[in-house]
Amino acid sequence: MSTFQELGLNEDLLNAITDLGFVKPSEVQQKAIPLLLEEEDKDLVALAQTGTGKTAAFGFPMLQKIDIESRTTQGLILSPTRELCLQITNELKNYGKYCKGLNVVAIYGGSSITEQARQVKRGAQIIVATPGRMKDMISRRLVDISKIQYSVLDEADEMLNMGFYEDITDILSHTPDDKSTWLFSATMPREVATIAKKFMYDPTEITVGNKNESTSNVSHEYYLVNARDRYRALKRLADANPDIFSVIFCRTKRDTQKVAENLIEDGYSAGALHGDLSQNQRDLVMKSFRNNQIQMLVATDVAARGIDVDDVTHVINYQLPDEIETYTHRSGRTGRAGKTGVSMVIVSKSEVRKIKSIERIIKKQFEKKDIPSGTDIVE
Ligand code: ADP
Ligand code: MG
Repeated sequence: MSTFQELGLNEDLLNAITDLGFVKPSEVQQKAIPLLLEEEDKDLVALAQTGTGKTAAFGFPMLQKIDIESRTTQGLILSPTRELCLQITNELKNYGKYCKGLNVVAIYGGSSITEQARQVKRGAQIIVATPGRMKDMISRRLVDISKIQYSVLDEADEMLNMGFYEDITDILSHTPDDKSTWLFSATMPREVATIAKKFMYDPTEITVGNKNESTSNVSHEYYLVNARDRYRALKRLADANPDIFSVIFCRTKRDTQKVAENLIEDGYSAGALHGDLSQNQRDLVMKSFRNNQIQMLVATDVAARGIDVDDVTHVINYQLPDEIETYTHRSGRTGRAGKTGVSMVIVSKSEVRKIKSIERIIKKQFEKKDIPSGTDIVE
């Protein structure tokens, strides 16, 4: 199947797809959409890397299956971070722009619970939520999910990594037993399998690509430097790529803040994204990055998880992540929707062996490169 029409989507959704400029469904969309549109509702486990178009894979079937004329909450999407929650909400609103009367509400921490409760009360057919805030709203009876028919666990591996197991269990226990659950994950660790077993009935499984392989249009490079030259190396990489539009990953919130501050002080266009910032600050920096007002977004792994910004040219690993698997998620921020991208790693001698382990995971070779030397750089 090679067109959206052939997948069985209705006219309203096809018109939105035309407006979005999507020409061909991605692999996960080709596999998931027809299955989820079937008359008889099914449970689904879908393994697919970031950037493969999962939002549309569950979003379109959900929009087609729910009754938009009713104001009852019928769809619930759980996702790990506030940024992702807002992103999915926006996408769904775009997908459903011709579905008259559709109301999608985002529920996440760090923002007014009263306002969110008010939006829900106006009648939301779909709620997109982070587990913590969702659980809170349920216990305060500000939201009724007893009529949910479709639940999505997006980035399930990451939600469980972040310790949301209990919250998810609690939330799902307030939904009807006969609902369908669609689980999306990049990887399938034991915890995800447990959730699937516990909450799903004979799920259909689909896998897209090799589940450990990162997107093939990303090339990987590493730069060996003295640990104390890390920051200088970063500046040189930025100088050598004046059109850079990049996410730079640091290991801690503190380093993230410091690197961003230093870059700004040194005249670069940068911003910080991490969990110690207020929701307002996080929204602002995401907005400026999305609008290309800042070129370098310095972020922690948690804050940047799942962020989908088009045209990210470079991912820079200022420091390698503690968990090597996280590298796949980081490099997945670039090379999205068929574009090419570069993932760079700045490493010191003591960490260089980690490159070998990453190569085994991503099944691709790194290119060892030298930090570009520029005459305009003060030594
Ligand atoms: P994932 O959730 O798998 O990480 P997303 O759903 O965020 O991926 O999609 C990644 C990007 O690809 C988004 O910018 C989205 O708008 C775009 N996209 C999704 N499906 C298609 C398609 N069929 N054709 C073109 N672009 C698409
Ligand atoms: Mg996603």
